[in-house]
Amino acid sequence: MKDILSLVRPNILNLTPYSTARDEYKGPIGVFLDANENPYPSNCYNRYPDPAQRELKQLLSQIKGVAPERIFIGNGSDEAIDLCFRVFCEPQVDNAIAITPSYGMYRVAAAINDVEMREVPLNADYSLDTDAIMAAADAHSKLLFLCSPNNPSGNLFPRAQIVELLRRFPGIVVLDEAYIDFADGKGFLGELEKHPNLIILQTLSKAWGMAGLRLGLAFGTAEIMDIFSRVKYPYNISSAVQQLVRERLSDTDNVARQIAEIQSERARVSAALAASPVVEKVFPSDANFVLIRTSGDPRELYQHLISEGIIVRDRSRIRGCEGCLRITIGTPAENDKLISLI
Ligand SMILES: *Cc1c(COP(=O)(O)O)cnc(C)c1O
Repeated sequence: MKDILSLVRPNILNLTPYSTARDEYKGPIGVFLDANENPYPSNCYNRYPDPAQRELKQLLSQIKGVAPERIFIGNGSDEAIDLCFRVFCEPQVDNAIAITPSYGMYRVAAAINDVEMREVPLNADYSLDTDAIMAAADAHSKLLFLCSPNNPSGNLFPRAQIVELLRRFPGIVVLDEAYIDFADGKGFLGELEKHPNLIILQTLSKAWGMAGLRLGLAFGTAEIMDIFSRVKYPYNISSAVQQLVRERLSDTDNVARQIAEIQSERARVSAALAASPVVEKVFPSDANFVLIRTSGDPRELYQHLISEGIIVRDRSRIRGCEGCLRITIGTPAENDKLISLI
């Protein structure tokens, strides 16, 4: 593996980042006449937030078992995905690789950044074809997006295959673990130190129940996370969100209970759907949703559910997902209603 910093765009490596008013002062509470704020307190929202999110990173560091300097906090995972392109990919020169079907945002972020996206199909059973991925890569392949458990198929990829790609891929492997809390396996946070070319994405939008607060996490080497911080908007996470997230992160018991219930509901819903004549197949899931292949017209089932007030995700027009709907696991009562209609 070559030096990771050699993968970074030269203009980003040479960047002089915006220095915020608070960057230079690390002392205790003082008299702040530096940032042109209104001096009259309104819940402390008259002050700019901590651009480095130090207290929040400290808390996340304890929860995740990862050093604070290896953590980047973004306005949703989407910010971290966009930063991967902005930091590593020279528009019109470099390329990125993603599996398909997978999360649609990788392709959108590539297009916005004018970077070629090479999509490598999964096998028919949604397993990874590591040789096909490596065959798509060349000297300009800077990013490989792997989503595990994968959205929309729901499956977790074998560790050995992910490790194989970390060893073989010449650029950064971005492992999106948005759904890892619903899987039985542990994910790759514990292996960050072994793989300098690994960036892990996680989010508070799914298992942690904070989709409305917009908080995405990236984990990687301290050098790369430092570069992300220099490129991001200085005040990307508001004071209100930093505060609310810190409060909600202390409620880990409740979250663990909810995850356990969603996992057992996933098993119940999967079994019930598998028994329905309109369902041809329920794909095994390590996430908080299941992908089903309908035996008849997927649009018809989709419309039927809509007419009963249930909205699911129609994935049937995506290559590799013909005939498929993606259904999120809800509360037991919501799941009962779904089962009664399918
Ligand atoms: C939902 C989801 C995310 C989360 O995005 P946020 O911007 O953090 O809400 C990330 N990756 C995948 C694959 C997802 O399905």
